[in-house]
This record gives sequence, structure tokens and C-alpha cells, in this order.
Amino acid sequence: MTSWQRLQRSSRTEQRALQDALLQRYVREYLFPFSPHYRALFQQHGVRPEQIRTVDDLRRLPLSSKRDLLPTQDEPQKFKNFILQPDPASIRAAWPLSRKLPLLWTKWTHGADAVRQAVRREFAPCFMTFTTGRSAEPVPFFYSAHDIQTLHETGRRLVDVMSLESGYRVANIFPYAPHLAFWQVFFAGQATGMMALSTGGGKVMGSSGDLRAITRLRADALIGVPGYVYHLLRRAAAERLDLSSIRVVVLGAERVPPGMKARICSLLEETGARDVRVFGTYGFTEARMAFAECPTKDNAYTGYHLYPDLAVFEVVDPKTGEPKGEGEDGELVFTPLDARASTVFRYRTGDLVRGGLRNEPCPHCGRTVPRISSDLTRESSLKDLQLLKVKGTLVNLEDCAMLLGSMPEIEEWQIELRKKDDDPLEVDELILHLAVKQGCAEEVAATKVRETFRSRLEVMPNRVEFLGLEPMLRKIGMETEMKEKRFVDARPKA
Ligand SMILES: [Zn+2]
Repeated sequence: MTSWQRLQRSSRTEQRALQDALLQRYVREYLFPFSPHYRALFQQHGVRPEQIRTVDDLRRLPLSSKRDLLPTQDEPQKFKNFILQPDPASIRAAWPLSRKLPLLWTKWTHGADAVRQAVRREFAPCFMTFTTGRSAEPVPFFYSAHDIQTLHETGRRLVDVMSLESGYRVANIFPYAPHLAFWQVFFAGQATGMMALSTGGGKVMGSSGDLRAITRLRADALIGVPGYVYHLLRRAAAERLDLSSIRVVVLGAERVPPGMKARICSLLEETGARDVRVFGTYGFTEARMAFAECPTKDNAYTGYHLYPDLAVFEVVDPKTGEPKGEGEDGELVFTPLDARASTVFRYRTGDLVRGGLRNEPCPHCGRTVPRISSDLTRESSLKDLQLLKVKGTLVNLEDCAMLLGSMPEIEEWQIELRKKDDDPLEVDELILHLAVKQGCAEEVAATKVRETFRSRLEVMPNRVEFLGLEPMLRKIGMETEMKEKRFVDARPKA
């Protein structure tokens, strides 16, 4: 692995040359010989591994997507085709002598069993996480011991980009689950020796348990899902707890709505924490790594700092799949350069990015690695609800979430889709459940929401219903669900 200290300041030309070399090697020595899915795909499209010489050659290959991984009638375990599966013969055929010699040396000095162990460490799955989303089948993604080492390395890099000091005490309040976010933080702690307490999130200890742990630990950093972090801090402020030890809040697993950073800061101030850095991270199951914004005094959206030696990101037109230019909007496509076990290639993330990729040095920290614009629309939040057609209009629920999440009058919300009179043949109804901020008149909030929906989206709520904060929190399952229930489709099926 390349030294991160050097890489993060190296020139774009150097980074590009490195990526070309790594990509070539990866395709020839790993992907093509060992991946059943991608070997077939290369052959189907008449592409030879030698033809992938530079990052620009990637476009010779078609894009992959989540659909390729989902089980079908004929192949209930399609995900297995994406696991690298070497055997002695394919290793002999695929690897150059320079790669085989160390293995031969090991065989000569320590015997054949030692070679088998080395190959096992590199390739055999020993850990897994799942893609989230309730409507689609979860897809498992496997890691080998080699990939776990990478997870340590990306953990170290995250800590570096986020400027977390080694003496910091970190409260990891991501839900305890086989999901990347929780484990990336766990391995970051393991890799850097930083003190990390993983509470498991609201579902495990409840918000009161989490707050007790955070205050007792006198945590310097708080890391979790935006909605739950906000909920926790609101509670801490209401109970007049002392959280003055907190200096950093890291948000992950979901998009950070505009205005969220400021709201978090003002709640923190009520608990005695001042001058706190709040910033976001971006990761997804299939990447098996996460990226972070760098901290700034005004909590700017600085973009997610990438690791050019571990992955190539492209931005493509979501309709045509054609690559877009620097800084242009589009869908993020991911290609790993050092993955083992479950491996995707030219993989459509489903995440749309406004402002695309940036190659100029970060104006805040000066790092020269490419950055993904912070303005991401994560498809994952839509996957929970496949039917987006409401009242005959296609509604971007993510936009609804951003609008509601950034209105200061609204404390919590849920959108419910119903059919009029619960008749499956009747028209759709959109009901908006709201808990308003204390001291804010319900009708004032309702009027503002209606006006915002009318002007920004093409759909209006049929009804706005109000709930107190506590029943609302129960409704969205803030402390009982793995993921907050923001959208409920209660439409009976015809
Ligand atoms: Zn930066």
C-alpha cells in the first residue's frame, strides 16, 4: 500500500500514473483470472485484460449494478460470482514470476501448508457486512484478512483527514449491525489505538444509556447517523446535560441535510460544547471503505477526500452511462484497485452527485487527492420505498427529506402514503406527520410546509397531522429501529 502521507500531497499526474499501474495489475492478476462474473463479462464483450492499460480504458467495459448481484430464480446465490476464487492452477497461470517467487520461497522454506495459509489470508472470506434497504434482499459482501487490513488502513486515513487527535475518546453511536459504518469506526479505533466506545446506538442502550456513556466517557468525538445524533443532542440539551468535552461530531451512513450542521452546533452550545467541528463521511457496503470531509472552522461542505491508490471513481450520466467531465453532475461509479473477496468493478453506486468530482487541491486542507462533492443524493434512502409514484407524479422522496430536515420549525417528521378510504383502487394520499419545534405554532409550520412543497416539489400533502415529540419519536422508531422510519407506504395492494 502506498504511503498515505506522501500520496495525499502528490501531484495529480503522479496519482494518475499510479492508478494506471495499479489498475493494469489488478485486472490482469486478480479480477480477470479469479472473478467468475467479470471474466465472463470481459469475454462477452470481447475485451482482453491487456486492453485495460489506463483509467480511461475503463469505459471499454460495461457498468455493473446492484441488479447483477440480486438473486434470480436460476441463481439464488448470485453474489458468489463476485467473490475472487483463485486455485493453484489459475494462480500459476495468472501471476508473473515476480509474484510467484515469494510463494515458491515460502514453499521451499516453510512447506506447502504455509503457502496455502498465505493464499487463504489473502483471499478467503472471514468477515461480512450487508447492503441495507428493506425492500430488496440484502446482499452480503465478504472481506478476506487482506481486506480487513485495508479497513484498518482506511480507518487510519479517516482519522487523519478528520484531524482526530490520538488522545481523543470517541463515542461510536452507529447501530451495532453488520453494516459498514459501525465497523469502519471500530477498525479505525483498532488501527490507531484511539479509545473508542461503541454503544451500539439507540436500539441497544437507548438514548439515555448512550448519553450516560458519553458524559461518563467525557467523549471528545461523537460519531453516528445524522438523525440519531440530532435526537441525542436535543435530549441532552433538554436535560441540561454537560457535553462540553465534545470537540468533533462526525456524521455518516446518510446524507447530511443542509442546515443540519448548524442545528447540531446550536444544540451543542446549549450543552456547553463550543467551537465544535461537524462534518460528514461517505461510504457504501460495496466499497468496503469510507471517505470523509475535512474539518473547517465554519463547518463547510468540503467534499469527501478519496484514496486514489485504493479506488477509482467516475461520474457518469445516469441515463446513458457516458462519463461526465470534472465537476459535472451525475451518478458515482466505483472501481476498486486492491480488493479481494467480494469485488465489484465499474459499479454504479446509485448515488447522484451534484458538483461531481474535483481534482484541484482542497482549499481547506491542501490535500491533492480527488474529492467527491458533498452534495450527494443517496439512492439507498430510496430503496426502502420502491414505489415513488405518488398521485401520478414521480416524487423524489430524498428531496422531501432534505426539505423537511432543513426547516427549523420542524423537529421530526414522517411521510405516509395511503389510499383514499384504504381502497386499493382509489387515489393516492400523502399524509405528513409533524412534530413542531417548541414555541412554534402548528398552523404556521403547516402553512410553510405546504408552500415549500408546492414551490419545490410537484406534490402537496393531503393532510398534515401533528404529534407531540415523544409519540413522534416512537412512530419513526428512533430508538427501536435500525433505521428511522421516515417514509411509510401504507397503500393496500390491489
Ligand atoms: Zn480538505
